[in-house]
Amino acid sequence: MYDVAILGGGLAGLASAIGLSKAGISVVLIEKNRYPFHRVCGEYVSLETLNYLKALGFDPFAAGAAHLKRLQVSAPSGNTLECNLDLGGFGLSRYRFDLELVQLAQAAGATLHTREKVNAVDPNGNGYRIKTSEREISARIVIGAFGKRSTLDKSLERSFLQKRSPYVGIKYHIHYDQEDDLIALHNFKDGYCGISRIEDEKYCLCYLAQNRHLKRLRSIPEMEKQMLRTNPHLDRIFVKAEFLWKRPVVINEVSFAPKPLLEQGIFTCGDAAGMIAPLCGNGMAMALHGASLLTGLLVDHFSGRLSISELEQRYVKEWRALFALRLQVGRNVQQLFGAPVTTEWVVRLFKALPPLTRAVMKQTHGKSFEAFAY
Ligand SMILES: Cc1cc2nc3c(=O)[nH]c(=O)nc-3n(C[C@H](O)[C@H](O)[C@H](O)COP(=O)(O)OP(=O)(O)OC[C@H]3O[C@@H](n4cnc5c(N)ncnc54)[C@H](O)[C@@H]3O)c2cc1C
Repeated sequence: MYDVAILGGGLAGLASAIGLSKAGISVVLIEKNRYPFHRVCGEYVSLETLNYLKALGFDPFAAGAAHLKRLQVSAPSGNTLECNLDLGGFGLSRYRFDLELVQLAQAAGATLHTREKVNAVDPNGNGYRIKTSEREISARIVIGAFGKRSTLDKSLERSFLQKRSPYVGIKYHIHYDQEDDLIALHNFKDGYCGISRIEDEKYCLCYLAQNRHLKRLRSIPEMEKQMLRTNPHLDRIFVKAEFLWKRPVVINEVSFAPKPLLEQGIFTCGDAAGMIAPLCGNGMAMALHGASLLTGLLVDHFSGRLSISELEQRYVKEWRALFALRLQVGRNVQQLFGAPVTTEWVVRLFKALPPLTRAVMKQTHGKSFEAFAY
């Protein structure tokens, strides 16, 4: 019987595994893939995470991360606005980032089962019985850190699945010549594409588009040609960049719908608890911040300071206080981008009113946060 079972080993799951193990709580983490692997993600991480990551034992800059300090946004016409990022961020591939956290989780004493899929979770006496593709595991508490969309959403009958999402996410690593400290966000009809530097002199190019265009145009290269490359900045990138993979990584059905924080007694964390629109560049920071909040509360629970019902109430209340407004602003900002004419006016307005740009960025970004003191 483990104290905590973590379903899914992305940032939320891995950070929780490190923090809980360091606090002496027995943890098992189950991840369906084998590390390291590439995921669809823009790979820009807000610096609000830095203190927390260092407390977990990870310094992204020592791992070769790029320091990103400026933002450029372009409308489909090519009209651009540029501003400094108040806090800024770092650029590091998930391939490297996740692997570094896996090593820290193992060193802290967490048990990791990889290439193993969780199929079902059932309440069992004082805890849960977890059925994976390989075995059955018992745990007192379960954290659902299985990301934006998982087969577990279906087996838990999560209500957000009733509505289909129109979005598809696509990512490449490229060699390109863009300023090291710049994150560029180029808009096209019904989508946007982020480009920023990561480790080893590479760049991440990641975009969100609408599935109906992919279906209509029948292939990713054709969609890139007819949709993305109408923005002159993206056209230049597609002409000049060296694409390092034969095929991109792709994810379908990216949903920004609100989700419950507790599902049949399982604590959801990271994207499984709610995903912010990627153009805010903040989903990873939220996944890490959620993990730090849940770790602190679980430590209080296992040391007898919080009953299970107090733990549940505090998690829901504090999570909402931290993220509910950010998620709503993220959904609203996402609405502003998409239609070329609206995007053009938004870029012009933000360009004319820099304090407005800063105010919107503040609403979608959090403050630097600390870890539970181990
Ligand atoms: C197009 C796009 C661009 C983005 N760009 C950025 C960005 O630049 N900056 C940013 O901060 N955020 C960005 N995000 C968001 C960011 O990627 C997520 O918020 C972040 O990865 C959430 O971490 P997580 O741990 O919750 O989920 P994930 O990292 O998705 O991890 C979930 C894990 O659960 C595993 N899993 C799922 N089901 C099972 C199962 N049944 N059994 C076992 N394992 C399972 C999966 O394999 C996965 O490893 C972007 C998202 C998209 C779609």
